[in-house]
Amino acid sequence: MPGLQRLIRFAACLACLLLSAATVAGVGAIDPGIAGEIESIEFQGFSNPAKALSLANTLLTTTPESAPQELRLQALRGVFMGDLGRHAEVAKLAQTLDRRGTPVAISCAEMILANDDWTAGNVTSANEHIERANRLTNKDTDDVLRYYIGMVRAGIAKQQGRFKDALAVYQETADLIERMNSLVREIHVNDQMADLFNSVGERDKALAHSQQAVDAATLLADPGALADAWTMRASILSEKSPDAARQAMDNAIRFAKQSGAEDRIAITLTNLSDMDLKRHRYQDALREARAAVDACKSVADVTCALVANLNAGEALIGLGNMAEGKAKMDAAVDFYDKTGEKAQQEELLSEYGEVLERAGDYKGAIEQYHRERKLAKEIYEGDRQKALLEMDTRYQTERKEKQIALLNRENQLKAAELQNRTLMQWIYVLGAALMAVGLAVIALLYRKARVANLKLQASNELLKVSSERDPLSGLYNRRYFQEAIRTRVERGALHCGLLLFDIDHFKRINDGAGHAAGDAVIVEVAHRIQAATRGSDFVVRWGGEEFLAALAPMPLDQLNKLAERLLRAIADTPVRYGSTDIPVTVSIGFANFPLSEELLWLDWERAVNLIDMALYVAKAEGRNRACGVVHVTPGGPEVLDAIEADFHNACREGRVRLNVIEGPTLGAGQVPVAT
Ligand code: GH3
Ligand code: MG
Ligand code: MG
Repeated sequence: MPGLQRLIRFAACLACLLLSAATVAGVGAIDPGIAGEIESIEFQGFSNPAKALSLANTLLTTTPESAPQELRLQALRGVFMGDLGRHAEVAKLAQTLDRRGTPVAISCAEMILANDDWTAGNVTSANEHIERANRLTNKDTDDVLRYYIGMVRAGIAKQQGRFKDALAVYQETADLIERMNSLVREIHVNDQMADLFNSVGERDKALAHSQQAVDAATLLADPGALADAWTMRASILSEKSPDAARQAMDNAIRFAKQSGAEDRIAITLTNLSDMDLKRHRYQDALREARAAVDACKSVADVTCALVANLNAGEALIGLGNMAEGKAKMDAAVDFYDKTGEKAQQEELLSEYGEVLERAGDYKGAIEQYHRERKLAKEIYEGDRQKALLEMDTRYQTERKEKQIALLNRENQLKAAELQNRTLMQWIYVLGAALMAVGLAVIALLYRKARVANLKLQASNELLKVSSERDPLSGLYNRRYFQEAIRTRVERGALHCGLLLFDIDHFKRINDGAGHAAGDAVIVEVAHRIQAATRGSDFVVRWGGEEFLAALAPMPLDQLNKLAERLLRAIADTPVRYGSTDIPVTVSIGFANFPLSEELLWLDWERAVNLIDMALYVAKAEGRNRACGVVHVTPGGPEVLDAIEADFHNACREGRVRLNVIEGPTLGAGQVPVAT
């Protein structure tokens, strides 16, 4: 898995760089010679943004601000700077563009800010910038800029798990490209769509788009573009067809060599070694990784060299040369330690453990697992701290809002009471003057008073049911959920991660430690789930010892990690009640919605039902585990009816595929041990 991820990381990097090609000199007033020059800079950017940036800077010195190509050149510079992580320079350039005050310049500034945030992992802020950039465009906006914005928008939507939005934007963008007749962009958009379909498990569609990218690259007859398109194809094939993937990589390397670009050769060789590692061809992987290390060194690409060295290490361990292999892997771990990239370090440690385990070095494997777990805990504590702070702020705001609402309602009630009293007084006064006023008038007024009384009663009832929270756990209740889940529906389709929790053997806790202890366990589990999720997610007490979490959309692999984190958050530390420690585990059923393009119709009730069945499987398979629904045969409600009628059979026949994530193994003292 990490191998594939690594490949995809390169593919994603490639995507960023390909994106730079968005400014291929446009139509209109731009001189074809200059357009060609800009295009060649963009090609450099595919594999070497630093060099491309310096070329763009040079060209800019002879380009006046009034020239039509100037803004595209600026956009290109901004994207390269972002890709290179030069945030301060991006901010400065954006400011300069902003000051020009024209919508197109501001839109361009917003786009490069979005790209910068996106590259730095600040996806929410990136999304705000790109939406602003998009709002500033209209039908008269330069096609190239619109294309550019479209690619960033779609990429961000994809990262946020809004796959349907991403697809819609890619399709709009593909229409734009048709008008421009640009092969470079055609390759890019098809690669991105292939990657998108691949990430939602639509392998056939992914392969079709990847084929279009390869075809366009063949027409362009550019070996660099061909190498990149074949790399993407290999990444799609690698999961299910390692041999076909290897052939695709062979093509990629052949074209990379033809292109003569050392940087691309280095990256492609690294990916190639990765693929051979996956196929356990250690001898080949070692040879390729070593060639990659040399190639990376010659172009001074530190990240690429790091991964190539790591691959060499893994291959050496695979070949039984433990000492040399371990030294290389240790060096990579140290590298991340120095740069502080904890998430990468954690992933690497877990991969390290797996490699050692496969090589029979169980002691070494356990050591790495412990390091990984310690680091994961550190990351988790950091996240938890953040989550607590966020939650606190949210509660404060909510409390204030509620107080204001209550005060408003109180005022209304008082006003109604006052009105009522005044009316009653009038009745008495008029009653005293019965002679003067007819009975009919009194009856009328009396009716008015009754209406006011009824209103008063209705307001009181409203006040009574306005509580949205479960009194024991403080979590939202079902009633609130039914309202709030609507915010997770976009154009009729559910967009969120849903997790259903059920405390394992809860009856035993009640029976053994008493009902009050059971209550305390419910409160603590609720608290742990909230601490491990985000402020924007909402967690509901679904039933007695059942909880439901609806999370903001995220990619499936992140959701899997979160499920694992939740299992640990609950099981790692027993719940303290008085002087007793109560070990607690949960079982989880979960899935990421929408499950696929064909299942967009699935509403929340059926979604919950589906994960409830996955939860049942988690229970049946031994509890303390999470069961994720990763695939459901595409189709309408009747397909799901059949699945629901016999879930077990549906799983057996592959109509439903589940991913089981085990919770931590609990030792006698509740210390998690490596499995
Ligand atoms: P399993 O692992 O299969 O889920 O076993 P379980 O014992 O947890 O499952 P079951 O659903 O049979 O039992 C749930 C128990 O939770 C039954 C009910 O008495 C108890 N319960 C429900 N609500 C509360 C509550 O608010 N407080 C306490 N203390 N117990 C509750
Ligand atoms: Mg239950
Ligand atoms: Mg239970």
